[in-house]
Amino acid sequence: MPHRPIYLDCHATTPVDPRVLAAMLPYFTEQFGNPASVTHAYGWEAEAAVQQARETLAAAIHATPDEIVFTSGATEANNLAIKGVAEAYFAQGRHLITVQTEHSAVLDPCRYLESLGFAVTVLPVQPNGLLDLNQLDKAIRPDTILVSVMAANNEIGVLQPLAEIGALCHQRQVLFHTDAAQAIGKIPLDVEAMQIDLMSLTAHKIYGPKGIGALYVRRRQPRVQIAAQLHGGGHERGRRSGTLYTPQIVGFAEAVKLALAEQEAETQRIRHLRDCLWQQLQVLEGIEINGDYTQRLAGNLNISVAGVDGQALLLGLQPIVAVSSGSACTTAKIAPSHVLLALGRSPDMAFASLRFGIGRFNTLDEINRVAAATLTTIRSLRAV
Ligand SMILES: *Cc1c(COP(=O)(O)O)cnc(C)c1O
Repeated sequence: MPHRPIYLDCHATTPVDPRVLAAMLPYFTEQFGNPASVTHAYGWEAEAAVQQARETLAAAIHATPDEIVFTSGATEANNLAIKGVAEAYFAQGRHLITVQTEHSAVLDPCRYLESLGFAVTVLPVQPNGLLDLNQLDKAIRPDTILVSVMAANNEIGVLQPLAEIGALCHQRQVLFHTDAAQAIGKIPLDVEAMQIDLMSLTAHKIYGPKGIGALYVRRRQPRVQIAAQLHGGGHERGRRSGTLYTPQIVGFAEAVKLALAEQEAETQRIRHLRDCLWQQLQVLEGIEINGDYTQRLAGNLNISVAGVDGQALLLGLQPIVAVSSGSACTTAKIAPSHVLLALGRSPDMAFASLRFGIGRFNTLDEINRVAAATLTTIRSLRAV
């Protein structure tokens, strides 16, 4: 394979851990049954594997297995949560609340609901990326049915105060959904302690396969209703039809199991790498960090660089390091990141931004090489 850049884009996706792949492989060939086949051993084996995975995932977030609905990923889970709640509760109210820094897989379903006649309040964030709970409190109306606030931001890694938001929502009798695609396996998540009613998950940000995720849907206190968005065979208790993808489900659970077992040690190691990168970059003037430095995922560093063109910066770094500016989903469009604009960054500073996502397989040597290359690139661009 030709020389490839160092991969520091772990918020976009991660490689499948070889241990995850090993767990998945038998379910492609030997144990290939349909988990919905109840008349023979092939089906029973697959169903047992799915049930085991369901238990692992539920335990990881302090839920019960029947509260896990498998989906194709966090995009689908967000759509199912937001549209599913809107459709099930519209008689009680037609107002939803979310936040400017959310992923497009939350913002776009909300915009779609607006087109159907729902009202959506999109709250701003503070300059550090954190939601102001007083603003949330004031935004809740008698007709509010759902608050959707992400756990960890995919661009700036900022961690929202889930427990405080959950407590406020339950006190005001509003459902609380959180997109935890970037958080699962990386920070402790507890749907009871945090009073979360719906939570979107995905496997491919934590060394699991792409194309698999889940929606947690609370079944007790309160029993949350969602209207299915995919109709068919009535799988997942009618909440999401479609034959369950056993190998992906097994891989998802294995990825979560590994991430939890290694969470403490891995977080420390990755945070150290991130701090080393930031320390080395800080020697230059005019480099600003985006988002709160402490309330943040260990592997995230997002900076804006004054006095350089954002495109030129990315192009200059391309041979050395795989990073992104803004989110992977929006970089195809030439528009400054909506997340950085929400922090109050100027369009120029939002354009001239770099998102480093450090992960399980990165080394200190790689971080040092990336730091050196980034400094060289910025210096040469500024000299022009
Ligand atoms: C990656 C991501 C998604 C989309 O997840 P998919 O499983 O790729 O559909 C949604 N929200 C956040 C915060 C993400 O980081």
